[in-house]
Amino acid sequence: MSTGEKKEFPDGMVPLGNSTFKFACHSGVTCFTHCCRKLELFLYPYDIIRLKQKLGITSEEFLDKYAGVAQGANPYFPAVILRMLDNQEHTCPFLDKIGCRVYEDRPSACRTYPLERAVDRSASSGQRDEFYFMTDHPYCKGHGEERQWTVKEWLQDQHLLYYNMMDDLWAEMDTIFSKNPWGDEGAAGPRQRMAFMVCYNLDAFRVYAQEHQLFNAFKLSKSEVREMEKDDEALLRFGFKWLQYMLTGAPTLKPRK
Ligand code: SF4
Ligand code: SF4
Repeated sequence: MSTGEKKEFPDGMVPLGNSTFKFACHSGVTCFTHCCRKLELFLYPYDIIRLKQKLGITSEEFLDKYAGVAQGANPYFPAVILRMLDNQEHTCPFLDKIGCRVYEDRPSACRTYPLERAVDRSASSGQRDEFYFMTDHPYCKGHGEERQWTVKEWLQDQHLLYYNMMDDLWAEMDTIFSKNPWGDEGAAGPRQRMAFMVCYNLDAFRVYAQEHQLFNAFKLSKSEVREMEKDDEALLRFGFKWLQYMLTGAPTLKPRK
C-alpha cells in the first residue's frame, strides 16, 4: 500500500509501480541455473523455517550444514547467509542436475528475482510503502522471454505475499537490533545470543521455552500455547514479540501477575 509520499531513489533506480515487465525462467533458457552459483544469499528467519522443514532437519542442523554468519547492513546483529559448496563453481547446495531441489521452499531472494524489494516506513504516519525494482544481469536470459507480468501477478505467482509478511515482521526486529539494544553487553553478549537463537534457531528456542516455562510467564490461551509447541511460524511470531518486550519494554505480551 502506498502512503502517497514522494520518495527519492538512488540514480538509475526506478520503481516498477503498475507497469509491466517481461520475464520467464524455465529449463529451456540457455542460462538455466547459472544464477544459482557464487551467491551471497541472505537468509531470513522464515526462509530457514521453510528450508529446514523441507529438508526434514532441525534448525540447528540446518545452521551447521548449510549456513554461515556474515556482517550485513546491520552493525549490531549478524546476518545469516546460505553457504555455497566448496566446488569449482561454488554452487548453491540445493542445486541438482534438474534444478532447485527445494523449489517450493526456496528463499525469499530466489522467489523475488528478477525483482528487488525495498520497504520504507513513512516518518509521519508510520505506514509502510513497498517498491519493486528490476534487476539487470546480462547473463540472465529470462528478460528476453515474452511472458508479461505486473508486480502483483509476479508476487502471487511466486507465493511471495506470505513470505513478505513474515519478512516484514523480521525487518521490524532488525530495526530494533540496529539501535544497539544490547547496552553494556555489547555484541555477542547473552541477550544478542538469545535473539540470534529466537530468530534463526527456532528448535533450540522451543526447547529453551519449555525448560524455562516461558509461555507460563505471559497471559496466553491454552490453544495459543499448543500452537506454539508444534507450529514454527506461531513460535517465531511469539519469539519476535518476546524480544520486543524484553529489549524495548513494548507491551507486546501481557505478563501474568
Ligand atoms: S535455493 Fe534453489 S533457486 Fe535459490 S539459489 Fe539455491 S538452487 Fe537456486
Ligand atoms: S539467470 Fe535468469 S533466466 Fe537464467 S536461470 Fe537464473 S533467473 Fe532463470
